[in-house]
Order: sequence, then structure tokens, then C-alpha cells
Amino acid sequence: MKCIYCGHSESKVLDSRNSDETNSIRRRRECLNCGRRFTTYESVERVPVVVIKKDGSKQPFDREKLKRGIVKACEKRPVKMETIEEVLDSIEKKLQSMTTSEIASSRLAELVLSALKAIDEIAYVRFAMVYKNFDDTFALKSFLSML
Ligand SMILES: [Zn+2]
Repeated sequence: MKCIYCGHSESKVLDSRNSDETNSIRRRRECLNCGRRFTTYESVERVPVVVIKKDGSKQPFDREKLKRGIVKACEKRPVKMETIEEVLDSIEKKLQSMTTSEIASSRLAELVLSALKAIDEIAYVRFAMVYKNFDDTFALKSFLSML
């Protein structure tokens, strides 16, 4: 994605938003060369991925919803929004490269967890506590001891 001001080909993504109506991703970018900011719209031909929840119900994968969960887990932690966007990008890429269009919510949570583990351990534990649905303190303790 070339900078519209100087033509430099590297930029960092400051923010991404899905637009369901136009099936595109709006990205706010900052040029790594001149530092100016610009917006790009990338059309995506995505296979809709369905998330299967524990109770068997199905839901379309929702990047914004997952983002909210990760942002919450990263609250007051030194994790940049662009890092969170990168995590989401890599997860979406993984989802798109799957051979099926369905993923168990637990598997999706594991993808997030493995990414968060490398970024921030507190955020990792927070996310794990919400998404692993620990039903007793023993399960939580044994999980924490694996860290
Ligand atoms: Zn530039």
C-alpha cells in the first residue's frame, strides 16, 4: 500500500474498521517515510467464517466483537492498538486459510491466546479467564500453573 504523498511502500496501520455494506476494510495508515496519514479502503473477498459456540449455536465471525474482547483484556496494559490490529489481522488470515469455514469458539480463543501470550502476559491471563469459562477455581489454578 503506497503512501499517497511520497510513494513510499511501507506504512503502519493505526486503525482498521470493517464496513459490512461495502465489504471492505477501511484502514488508517501512517507512512513510515514521511509520517503523513492516509486512509485506504481494501475490498475483501472473504469467506464468511462461522464460529461454533460451546452450546452448539453458530454465529458469524465478528472482528469488531473479538477486538472489543482483546481491547478489554489489554486495558491499562502497554499494548498498542496497532498491535491489537495486527493480532486481529493474523487471526483473520488464519481463518481465511482454513479448509473449513467453521471454527469452534474455543479454538478461536486459543488463537487469540497464543498471540496474546507473546505480547502481554496479564492480557493473556485476563482473556483466558473470560474465554475459557473456568467453572471452578481448581481449573483456573491448574491453568495458571501452566503459564
Ligand atoms: Zn509518505
